[in-house]
Amino acid sequence: MTNMENKFLKDYNKKRQVKGPDGQIFEVDPMQEYFCQDRPQKIDAHKGVVEKFMNWARAESIWVLGFGTGCGSIEIPPLFSPRFDAFRFGVAMRPTPRQSSAMIISGYLAVKTLKRVIRSYEQMMGPKYIMALGSCTINGGMYWDSYNTINRLDHYIPVDVYVAGCMPRPEALLAGFDTLKTKLRKAGRRGQ
Ligand code: SF4
Repeated sequence: MTNMENKFLKDYNKKRQVKGPDGQIFEVDPMQEYFCQDRPQKIDAHKGVVEKFMNWARAESIWVLGFGTGCGSIEIPPLFSPRFDAFRFGVAMRPTPRQSSAMIISGYLAVKTLKRVIRSYEQMMGPKYIMALGSCTINGGMYWDSYNTINRLDHYIPVDVYVAGCMPRPEALLAGFDTLKTKLRKAGRRGQ
């Protein structure tokens, strides 16, 4: 990347050194690591049909890992009560990462918890999706200068949907799932 291009990048997209949860310093280059620079692949027509079907099926069967952190985890159980009934949108909870395709990070993350989140994320089957719920997850929120919580989840794992608020209500979560489903259906988002 040229110096001129680098000049117009936001700070969080610039190449820099970050400190990992275990204190190790490593280099992050978001423009190389978070964004794909490969050319689109040519897909045969019949494969496109299969792809569309697969995207539809993925969008209609989002299996969420039963994991909660921070205050936002209180907002997840009501989703499956008769009032909000997330099952009708194809959203269901699963007890293990190996059966899950989505994970909601529902609040502030201590450095210790982050390690468990990354471990669970790596155990999930692909394609997999992450929803960042609440200000603490997205930008640090009220813990922005805390010594033992992380500021931004997307510095550590890729985030597909952001649901802002403190704390977001179940309706906001449903809207987040709707956004994810739209991405899956229309753009054929493949996840990681
Ligand atoms: S954003 Fe608000 S509700 Fe969510 S974890 Fe932070 S303080 Fe709690």
